[in-house]
Amino acid sequence: MGEIKVVQSDITKARVDAIVNAANTTLMGGGGVDGAIHRATGPGLYIACRRFNGCPTGEARITSGFNLPAQYIIHTPGPIWHGGDGVERQLLANSYRNSLLLAEEYDCRTVAFPSISTGVYAFPLNIAAPIALTTIRDFLNTAKVVREVTMVCFDTQTLAAYRQAL
Ligand code: ADP
Repeated sequence: MGEIKVVQSDITKARVDAIVNAANTTLMGGGGVDGAIHRATGPGLYIACRRFNGCPTGEARITSGFNLPAQYIIHTPGPIWHGGDGVERQLLANSYRNSLLLAEEYDCRTVAFPSISTGVYAFPLNIAAPIALTTIRDFLNTAKVVREVTMVCFDTQTLAAYRQAL
């Protein structure tokens, strides 16, 4: 049940019900995909995110998509990689699962993810990609609403890692 797609693109352009933002725990914007999403929406997103007073790593919050093609933006701070001896793997899975739970709650049938934590947060791609895809697969097996999840890879290296893991 459900379908997982892996594409190379810019997630701000994704025509889906919800895109996911690899945010930080302040939810007040940052670099990478977070910066790209905030630049694309303009200040409305910053104002909407302020009311959350941040978000713990692995949890998720939802806002409108403002002027983006996506109806919603789901914000999740992924874990910072500290060598893999801690709870990084669990926290990364939590980010995907909690984002999908919110998508389900908001009746989203199609969801797009960036490669959470593999940019500035330095999570190794070859470890992150199987965690992401396994968590999404497990979720789709019991999901009632979400039926299509797209991994939107920004660069060819990321695309290759997710293609291989798929
Ligand atoms: P994190 O802090 O969670 O590591 P980053 O934004 O630094 O988040 O990186 C996560 C991934 O998002 C990286 O693969 C990066 O290349 C990618 N990325 C950056 N901009 C975009 C974009 N506009 N669309 C999709 N992915 C993007």
